[in-house]
Amino acid sequence: MNFSLSEEEKLFQSTAHEFLKSNLAPIAREIDTEHRIPEDVLRKMGDLGILGTTIPERYGGPGGTMTMASIAAMEVGAADPSMATAVYFLLVTGWSHLTAKLGSEELRQSLLPEVAKGRRFLGIATTEPGGGSDLAAMKTNARKEKGRLVLNGEKIYISGVSEAKRTGGGHLTLMKTDPALKHRGLTFAYVPINSGGIETSVLQNMGRMGISTGIISYRDVDVPEGNIIGEYNKGFFHAMLGFNYARTLVSAACVGAAQWALETGADYIKKRSAFGSPLAKYEAVSFEYADLAVQIEMVRNQVLKAATLLDEFDRGGDVSMRDINIAVSSCKLTAPPLALEAVKKVMMWHGALSYTKDTLLEMALRGVLSYVVGAEGALNIMRLVIVRELLGPEYLPYR
Ligand SMILES: Cc1cc2nc3c(=O)[nH]c(=O)nc-3n(C[C@H](O)[C@H](O)[C@H](O)COP(=O)(O)OP(=O)(O)OC[C@H]3O[C@@H](n4cnc5c(N)ncnc54)[C@H](O)[C@@H]3O)c2cc1C
Repeated sequence: MNFSLSEEEKLFQSTAHEFLKSNLAPIAREIDTEHRIPEDVLRKMGDLGILGTTIPERYGGPGGTMTMASIAAMEVGAADPSMATAVYFLLVTGWSHLTAKLGSEELRQSLLPEVAKGRRFLGIATTEPGGGSDLAAMKTNARKEKGRLVLNGEKIYISGVSEAKRTGGGHLTLMKTDPALKHRGLTFAYVPINSGGIETSVLQNMGRMGISTGIISYRDVDVPEGNIIGEYNKGFFHAMLGFNYARTLVSAACVGAAQWALETGADYIKKRSAFGSPLAKYEAVSFEYADLAVQIEMVRNQVLKAATLLDEFDRGGDVSMRDINIAVSSCKLTAPPLALEAVKKVMMWHGALSYTKDTLLEMALRGVLSYVVGAEGALNIMRLVIVRELLGPEYLPYR
């Protein structure tokens, strides 16, 4: 067990930190108000190997590890606490990782180099109007026809709808291909958003305004068989593996946001005085600071453990999917509520100032909340995974 980063990881972290501190942090508020992440920032992130961190070099990426991607996610979450850039980062990075592992050679070659350079958006579309947690109950379906799938249905609350349209990107999309088989009859495929038969609309969110969330409707959309991720009818299992990568990155971004809040709070309570002393001298405040610092470090370690297990799994090492599921679900269960708690506590330290737009705290509150309410999987679903792995599947409520 090694608790320190390697020299290569430290160098990567400092490169990401310096770039994001100088180029992303100063425009975090602008991203929130302009509803857009500047393309040149995304492209520079691509050039530095921060975006699509794990895309192999043969597909134009930097060929990094999930540990490096998690380090990058923490830095992105700290630099833009609205979480918009973190969402862009983790979708593109997490789902390109799965595409590199399970996509057809043709798909890898056509999609990954563009994604790695920050020129094309890649996201995921599983949630439907009928619900996001119970994927087996989905209605979006596809029939097989001569070398293609014909897709019909609707997805909702999908991140990056406008970004995919603007960049000619798309989403890994889960579809029912054999309804009688329930979750064993789902297929996962890349669907470019500019395909014929697709209509989109954008929802009005409360936060992470720099990236859109919307609805995608499919009417007889042709999806080439070469766009299938992994095997036909194994989509549920492939998506679950992909969620393990993406949820690790969500958790890392939340650790970054929590750390940003803590540092913002520390600066403030050292400077702000009340009743003749800095706030940091009052134990009611400094003990909260200490508790938060400890909790952030614990969750950071848990995230790095999950990333390390995933790296080991990717290398074909001796690691069980059970251990990965527990580690990743533990992160996704704890990191978003911790980020929310950190932001809320630091808002209290700031008093009335925190309720204005003169700090970034209200923006961070709106952003991190998205991961508490459900993005990349609801908290109770993380609890269900942990129950399944530790107590046994017979204790799941729907068995
Ligand atoms: C900002 C944002 C962006 C998103 N982006 C995407 C995206 O890009 N792609 C995508 O596919 N989806 C996306 N989602 C949707 C997200 O994946 C879903 O919100 C999530 O899966 C939960 O689904 P749901 O919202 O339909 O809630 P439901 O599944 O209806 O669940 C509602 C509540 O019931 C609880 N619940 C459900 N089942 C159980 C159970 N068996 N036991 C106990 N409690 C249970 C859940 O924990 C939740 O609190 C996004 C969501 C948000 C908020």
